[in-house]
Amino acid sequence: MAAKRKTAAKKPCGPCKGTGEASVRVVVGARRKRTTEHQQTGMCLNCLGTGEDPN
Ligand SMILES: [Zn+2]
Repeated sequence: MAAKRKTAAKKPCGPCKGTGEASVRVVVGARRKRTTEHQQTGMCLNCLGTGEDPN
């Protein structure tokens, strides 16, 4: 039996640690005079929300 060719190993994405979500701090004001404590959870831009490292 031929050795199966491994599909790309699933690595957890670094920036989001495999969660697929990234916290983004909301900054109000162009000059950053104000910052808020609000954090917005968004899709990780590295893995596009899959939680797997695409590289
Ligand atoms: Zn990610």
